[in-house]
Amino acid sequence: MFQTPLFAQILACAGFACTGLTLARPALARLAAIAVARPAADGPHGAAAAPRSPLVVTRGPDALAFEIPAAEVLDFDVFVELGLLGKLGKFRVGSFELSSGVEPFQAGLPPAGIVTAALASEPVASFAPVPRAGWMRGRARGRYLGFVLDHTIETRVLPQAWPRFVHRDTAAGSACRRRELRYGDRDGVNSLWYRSDTHCKGCERREHFVDASLFSPAGHCRRCRRSAHRVWKAPRTRTIPTGAVDMLSAVFLCRAMVAEGRDELTFPLLDKDTIWELGVKRAGRQRIETSAGTFTCRAIVLSPRAAEGEPRGGKAQFKGLFGIHGTLSIWVEEASGIPVRIEGTVPVGPLDLVVSLELRSTESP
Ligand SMILES: [Zn+2]
Ligand SMILES: [Zn+2]
Repeated sequence: MFQTPLFAQILACAGFACTGLTLARPALARLAAIAVARPAADGPHGAAAAPRSPLVVTRGPDALAFEIPAAEVLDFDVFVELGLLGKLGKFRVGSFELSSGVEPFQAGLPPAGIVTAALASEPVASFAPVPRAGWMRGRARGRYLGFVLDHTIETRVLPQAWPRFVHRDTAAGSACRRRELRYGDRDGVNSLWYRSDTHCKGCERREHFVDASLFSPAGHCRRCRRSAHRVWKAPRTRTIPTGAVDMLSAVFLCRAMVAEGRDELTFPLLDKDTIWELGVKRAGRQRIETSAGTFTCRAIVLSPRAAEGEPRGGKAQFKGLFGIHGTLSIWVEEASGIPVRIEGTVPVGPLDLVVSLELRSTESP
């Protein structure tokens, strides 16, 4: 049988995976037309209403920029396949949603790097140049063998030097944890700030105490899954190379690579406070069928390696991108880079467990 934490990890990873790759208007429109009924794009006078434009995120003078679509939602089904080629069965265990948006940004709000989802979303007068912020979000939800997963990763890109990127990784459900990564140009130095939470160890708060029993006096809870018992650890900071991105931004960067017709790309990837060098290659062409339609796709191959001077082996094994140790395959729509199918193989005891994400529907303006 599966061990639930591992399964959760797999699903979460799958979530990351799914954050796979994505981009490009015309192809996206094609996908959207196939998958969902869309509202008419014409305005009240018959003129085409200008869709809100994507946010272009630059990464330095010689580095490939990527785009954050202004309003996009990609929905995936998450399946678990048992046995070789799923011969023992394929089960839907959850969903994954990859979405993005662009909003006006008010400097000074929110305070000191604390970014909330409640940033102003009202349209603003078009004649005033308003700085814009972009966000990308991946949310995996599932339930299997009594284990509940609700895992969200989100990156906000702000029109300011520090922090320019705020990346959050939040797991709710049966296993809770939070991580936060901020990076950008801090006082002229390309920097990273990272913190994660942990179960509170022995504070004085009486509400963290568990009742006395026959065998022990009342004392602080030793271990539990309550989010209220979690506290932030001290943040860590370091310098990072130019053009480095977090995992979710990497997905959109890979998408830009495919949309630009590039065959490969290498860039520094930030996972917690570790730096990896991620090589991405575009491989063979294949027709992929999902419930959203049939797509001409290219396979994407990811090869991470420890960046120079970073720890190797042992605990430093790469699993940040998808959380899984197995192989990973991603198929993206050829013209747009939109991920259509993501598949990871994970050995669990004597079984090969295959987790796959398949595009179910898309929405765009
Ligand atoms: Zn406590
Ligand atoms: Zn506790």
